[in-house]
Amino acid sequence: MTHTKHSTATTAVYGSEEMVRPAPTMTIPEEMTTPEIAYRMVKDETYAQTQPRLNLATFVTTYMDEYATRLMNEAISMNYIDQTEYPRVAVMTSRCINILANLWNTPEKGDSKCGALGIGSSEACMLGGVAAWLRWRKRREKEGKSTAKPNLVMSAGMQVVWEKFCQLWQIELRQVPLKRENRTLCPKEALKMCDENTICVVPIAGVTWTGLNDDIEALDRELEAFNKRTGYEIPIHVDAASGGFILPFVSPETRWDFRLKNVISISTSGHKFGLVYPGLGWVIWRDKSYLPEEMSFSVNYLGAEVTQVGLNFSRPAAQVLGQYYNFIRLGREGYTRVQQNSMEIARYCHKRIGEMECFENYSDEVVNPLFVWSLSEEYLKSAKWTLYDLQALLQQSGWMVPAYSLPRDIEDIVVMRIVVRQGMSRDMADMLIKDIENGVAELNKLKYPTASRQAYEKQEKQRGRVFTH
Ligand SMILES: *Cc1c(COP(=O)(O)O)cnc(C)c1O
Repeated sequence: MTHTKHSTATTAVYGSEEMVRPAPTMTIPEEMTTPEIAYRMVKDETYAQTQPRLNLATFVTTYMDEYATRLMNEAISMNYIDQTEYPRVAVMTSRCINILANLWNTPEKGDSKCGALGIGSSEACMLGGVAAWLRWRKRREKEGKSTAKPNLVMSAGMQVVWEKFCQLWQIELRQVPLKRENRTLCPKEALKMCDENTICVVPIAGVTWTGLNDDIEALDRELEAFNKRTGYEIPIHVDAASGGFILPFVSPETRWDFRLKNVISISTSGHKFGLVYPGLGWVIWRDKSYLPEEMSFSVNYLGAEVTQVGLNFSRPAAQVLGQYYNFIRLGREGYTRVQQNSMEIARYCHKRIGEMECFENYSDEVVNPLFVWSLSEEYLKSAKWTLYDLQALLQQSGWMVPAYSLPRDIEDIVVMRIVVRQGMSRDMADMLIKDIENGVAELNKLKYPTASRQAYEKQEKQRGRVFTH
């Protein structure tokens, strides 16, 4: 039967013609649809594939308390840039910037520190990168030298935003390879890649691929000597997307921030361990002199004089409210407790997984609430399955635990990763470990290799490895 009557407010949602017609994919529908039906169509299409809290792949906040959620929902219509209407949001932003700058031990005096907000670390990284590039260009121009070939040095364990930044601003990306024996950025190797055209070196606090931290203190020390020797003024931008909200609370004595002389800017994700729903990022400069004037745009918008540093103009304000709420609600004590709990759960999982004979942890230490592991040598030789098969099995119980291969030069290492975020309890961890054990037991019963194991062996044979079975 085809419907001829249009849906009205009294039509049952699933009795409507819209529900038996294909959804619009190419052109805007000619006619209107009732809000209930439109709501259901969009809602049903975005139904979560799994429980967001069982998603151990993402770094991004999936739990905030009820007051935070209410506060942010109530602010959903606020445009950050509209400072005539919402002047206090800009004030609140400056407070968040001050709080972060102080958490990261800024030397800047005065009661307004230098920073900017972004949609995430990506925008924050780009702003830090652009500032470094402009400062380098200005210095080169003053010296009458060429500005044609800027480059940036970081480890191959970088997040994709740096590839984007270098591509979009046409900066040469020099990647320091990660090795089995060098699992984080090697300062000496990094400096070998530096020259007069290096706009900055970017170490990472909380490497996305492995959960480890680059040794920023060692880098700063080596860079200091290098700059003295060469007369260059190569600065450090720290990509602390995860670490920026972990280190100050779980390891306040670690020197990775503005306590180090050459650290000029730091970026982080408010929506990762800043514990705010997406999207929020922050970048802080050591002091105002490191933020090139060209990056501040002053506009008169709806009657207010607005100075803004950012790639976007309009942006949601709710996340700023969420961040400021968290600072008030949790304070140093609260953040410390939440992050320490995440660390404890991560270490517990790390230990349990390390004890299983089929697995081998990538690193003995857990320095952020995430870690990766791979199959043990024994299993790599003879198992009928790979971590990709385990990933698929775990997904059947609702867990998202990604398997992937590490960046170039160690891309033959396939790992699995768990990110422990606020919202994961010891009880959930025990459920996960049980599901992993059951999954492994099931996979160990296989008589024939899975498709992914066959692909693995084929690839390894091309690399010259011999399998005996
Ligand atoms: C997540 C991440 C980014 C990108 O951050 P978004 O907040 O997702 O834009 C950049 N660098 C590192 C190290 C990250 O982990």
